Amino acid sequence: MSANRRVFLLQTVVGIAGLPLIGSAADKIKPSSTSALIVVDVQNCFVTNGTLPVPKGEEVVPIINRIAQSFENVVITQDWHTPGHASFASSYPGKKPFETTQLAYGTQVLWPDHCVQGTDDASLHKDLKIPQAQVIVRKGYHKDVDSYSAFEEADRKTATGLAGYLKQRGIKTVFVTGLATDFCVAWTAMDARKLGFETYVIEDAARGIDLNGSLAAAWKQMTAKGVKRIQSSDLALG
Ligand SMILES: [Zn+2]
Repeated sequence: MSANRRVFLLQTVVGIAGLPLIGSAADKIKPSSTSALIVVDVQNCFVTNGTLPVPKGEEVVPIINRIAQSFENVVITQDWHTPGHASFASSYPGKKPFETTQLAYGTQVLWPDHCVQGTDDASLHKDLKIPQAQVIVRKGYHKDVDSYSAFEEADRKTATGLAGYLKQRGIKTVFVTGLATDFCVAWTAMDARKLGFETYVIEDAARGIDLNGSLAAAWKQMTAKGVKRIQSSDLALG
């Protein structure tokens, strides 16, 4: 092998500036002024000791805090139900959590009572530190309608207003994080895509419930709709 060939190979592996080519800063996705981070439902109800805990849900908190430092636009969502809400198993005699029922808008998974308006359980996780977040979107506050998505309630008709908020502010790209990957994160991401936003889900900044294979099914549906699946290490942070 000639000396030149060896130099060429060496440059291919380490990059001309001596930095590794794979995963270099140039390959990473950089949040811009037209990007928004959406932090879905990082609330006491959805972490350990909450009323509807997502396994290891609290693990997303430090990851989201770190990511958020690189975003000038941050939206937080908060599941925010009335007492006796239509999504609660306790609202139907004889029904147990995680069974389903038929509501006017279709099949509804029934959950333990969770995230009731004004309770500590519904508060944002105390370690979530995103002081620059501009808006908190509360959802699921209509007693007869659930809302997994931050954009559209489960009747698929009632808008939350988030699409208008983001569009009026010139946001083109959204990065979705939080709880739970296979329900509120997935529905939020798929609606974002439907509404024309370039949409990423940051997998390690989300955790799933995985009810009867729902996590794999959600990733399949999200991918089919053009949602991009990335890790926080794919972002240019700093
Ligand atoms: Zn809920």
